[in-house]
This record gives sequence, structure tokens and C-alpha cells, in this order.
Amino acid sequence: MLATKLIFRFPLVRGTIEFKEASCAILFVAAGAVITAIDDETINTAVDRESLLNNRAGSPIQLTLKPVGGGAPVTQMILAGATMSEPDFSEVLKAGVTRFQRQVFPTRRLLFEKLAKAQKPKALFLTCADSRVVPSLITHTGPGELFVERNPGNLVPVYSEEAVGVSASIEYAVSVLRIEHVIICGHSDCGVVKGILHPDKVAQLPAVARWMEFGLPARAALFEEYPHLPEAEQLPILTEFNVLNQIDNLYTHPSVQQALKEERLTIHGWVYHIENGEVWEYNAEKALFETWPGSQY
Ligand SMILES: [Zn+2]
Repeated sequence: MLATKLIFRFPLVRGTIEFKEASCAILFVAAGAVITAIDDETINTAVDRESLLNNRAGSPIQLTLKPVGGGAPVTQMILAGATMSEPDFSEVLKAGVTRFQRQVFPTRRLLFEKLAKAQKPKALFLTCADSRVVPSLITHTGPGELFVERNPGNLVPVYSEEAVGVSASIEYAVSVLRIEHVIICGHSDCGVVKGILHPDKVAQLPAVARWMEFGLPARAALFEEYPHLPEAEQLPILTEFNVLNQIDNLYTHPSVQQALKEERLTIHGWVYHIENGEVWEYNAEKALFETWPGSQY
């Protein structure tokens, strides 16, 4: 059986470790505790906290954990007042897949059996590849509901005969899946939008620089409309302009033009704010982005 070894170092005031595994245990670690080799049985039963009070101030605490049920090791730790060595990420992935298969999949088996035969998503969600943007989390949607296209900067190439990749996703989603909504979702603190703002900073990344060209009209619009904007305000506005730029590019795609002609497609421009979870949507009538859906909803 594999064991996961976690090294905690002082100062440790009081730590909480949560095992998000087949069985969930919470272990309170007292200051100066020395913990060794906690086996499955210990994890599954109450931990004898008195036995953890063997003070050796200044010494590292070494904790060896054997995974519950003999499966994947500990996947996630929540610990206050201490630093720890992080588990190898391959172990995190293994544990995550195991948890999905053992805990999540069985509860939604009927849905997955239905989805195994076909998909009928309602929306194409086109957003940045940034790890902090999680479409299903932001929209609280589940498997089969969003057709997702991701790329650095949530860019849409202007349609051309040679177009592949993003253009293929758009064509398939609109013409074959006949999705009813396209959401182009930018986000705060976007590295690509920063690159569009300062192209010199990505000069050493030729592939990124070429890709970013699809956002340069947004940059031109920013400096045309706000030539004297303080630098701190440039990025948020360029993020919004970039979304509008990509909507313009979307209109160049024949599949989108056809769907709009048939009045079966709605296009949304969003900006997701990582720091507070807000979604701002472009209001075409007011010609501005505003919080959406808003408190009246
Ligand atoms: Zn981004």
C-alpha cells in the first residue's frame, strides 16, 4: 500500500488536515505534535489527540498517511498556521480521478449513460485557457450543457479558408450541434490581454505574438477612444474591448452569419472577475459592460 508523506514545519499552532477521499477524516494537530505512521484504522476512527501532544518545539513534524481504503493517497490538505511540502501533482491527479470514479460518477450514473450516446449542449462557451477560469463552475452547469472552446486570450480568428482550430469549433457548435448561445468570456488579470497592451513583452514568444494579432484592433480602439487613460485603467478596459473585438471576428464566420440570419443564435460578451466572482455582460443598448445578471434577478 502506498503512503503519502507530508512534512510540516514549525511554527505550527493548530493545523487541520482534511482528507477528501473515499472516507473523510479531519485531524487536529496540536502545537509541537509528533505524528508518525497513522494507518487506515486510525484515520477511520477518532484520533487520540493526547498522543499528539509530545512537544518537540522547533522540530519538524513528520506525518505519514496511508490512504483510506488502500486507494489513492491524500488529495487535498487544509492547514492553518503551518507550511507543508506539497504532494507531487501526479498524485493529486491520480487521487482526483479516483475520487471522481468512486464518489462522483456513481451519483450521476444515469446522466453519464445518457450522455454516452449523444450531446446536446445549448451554448458555445469560448474563453481563455487561464487555469483560474472554470466555465462549469462560473455558470454552475454540468456535463453536456456547455460546448467549450479555450485558447489564450479567448480570441476568435477572423474567418479564412485556411481556418482550423477555433474556427472548426465554432462551425461544429453552430452548424452541427446548433447551439443557441455563444458566450465569449474574457477575464480579469489576463496575461494575453497584458501582452496585447504591451506587445514588446511577448516579442520573444513568436507563436503568442502571432496569435495576439487577433486582439490588436482592440488595442487600437483603446488608444483611440482613451488616449490619456492612466495605465492602471487600461487593462480592464482593454479586456472588455478585446471581448467586443472577438465578437466582431465571430461575425465573419459563415456558420454564425447563417445562424443569425435564421434567428437561432444569441451572442453574449462577458468578463469574469476572478477576485470577486462577478460576471459583467455587454449591454449593446447602453454600449457598456454591466454586472450580470444583477441583484434584481
Ligand atoms: Zn486569459
